[in-house]
Amino acid sequence: MKTLDQLLSEGVRGRRVLLRADLNVPFKDGEISDDGRIRTVLPTINALREAGAAVIVMSHLGRPKGKPDPALSLRPVAERLGALLGTPVSFENPSGEVSLLENLRFDPRETSKDDAERAEFAGELVALADVYVDDAFGAVHRKHASVYDVAFRRPAYAGYLVVREVEVLKRLTENPEHPYVVVLGGSKVSDKLAVIEALLTKADKLLIGGGMCFTFFKAQGKQIGSSLLQEEMVETCAELLARAGDRIVLPVDVVAADKFAAEAETRVVQEVPEGWLGLDIGPESVRLFASKLDGAKTVFWNGPMGVFEIEPFAAGTLGVAEAITKVDGFTVVGGGDSAAAVRALGIDDGAFGHISTGGGASLEYLEGKVLPGLSALEK
Ligand code: ADP
Ligand code: MG
Repeated sequence: MKTLDQLLSEGVRGRRVLLRADLNVPFKDGEISDDGRIRTVLPTINALREAGAAVIVMSHLGRPKGKPDPALSLRPVAERLGALLGTPVSFENPSGEVSLLENLRFDPRETSKDDAERAEFAGELVALADVYVDDAFGAVHRKHASVYDVAFRRPAYAGYLVVREVEVLKRLTENPEHPYVVVLGGSKVSDKLAVIEALLTKADKLLIGGGMCFTFFKAQGKQIGSSLLQEEMVETCAELLARAGDRIVLPVDVVAADKFAAEAETRVVQEVPEGWLGLDIGPESVRLFASKLDGAKTVFWNGPMGVFEIEPFAAGTLGVAEAITKVDGFTVVGGGDSAAAVRALGIDDGAFGHISTGGGASLEYLEGKVLPGLSALEK
């Protein structure tokens, strides 16, 4: 994989660089509510500017279904990017030092399954530039025109963010230091099953909390009330538990609520009574998970331990996150909601070794899948 540093040493003065970034930021009431993703790409843009290149940035935003949707225009992102760079960013029409194209997914060819359609769109994109740089780690698992096809049509390089993410993921998969403890949570087991299987052979302990632990509890024959359940996964979870022995660690208590609301009545239980919902791991489980994390040399955490967005169910995620910050070893947080939880709960994000920007992409990498965006850069 050729990197941005190599491009800079080859020289880019006066050249036009097409840069794929992941500027898919969250909005609230028409305003950007978290510009973290814009900030992560600034080092790459600044390095290219300082080297004298004209940078044409492109990104997707949301899921506009292949046609223009004013609510998903990147125009506000161009303004914020300009403010953060301290230089105007021209929008839609590439001109000047830095410009941003409109939402790539307004064109159905960007995400088309048809190779010829994507190739045609990629051809139009690369016509704007001499060189391609990919810094959209959050999109490298997609076989999309701007991530995959363009890389075959121009000299292609990995930006700083992609280089860093790949370094971190390599450290988690190739000879990780032991003890290696993985903490998984979040809502859907089916999304993370493949990663559980893959990590079972690499990690010493897999601590499982969040909504997905209830499918495992069901597999153990426990009462889960109306907690989140993926019925079709119960059997697979039973098999995993049988295979994993004591390497899979489940919560020993949960915070149950009589309804999914901040003002719900709550109690800490071992099994969830009928009609109640398990919405967080309990205090005893936080202590148990912290004891398993103690002394770890490598930690990967993906997925909140509970519904951290609602205050009465945030303690599990906060407790486990704090335990991870106390680990001396190499600690990595992956997953959009997990990173959001770190910020929302006011945890010092500098206390982690790395916070990944791409949830889906990092999970697929850990599963051992080939990521189209990376394979295109390695061609
Ligand atoms: P990430 O984006 O970090 O990969 P996920 O998207 O898998 O994480 O899951 C995050 C969501 O899981 C959060 O919105 C959180 O509220 C939800 N969640 C966690 N625990 C539970 C639970 N016990 N019941 C229902 N939802 C839960
Ligand atoms: Mg998520």
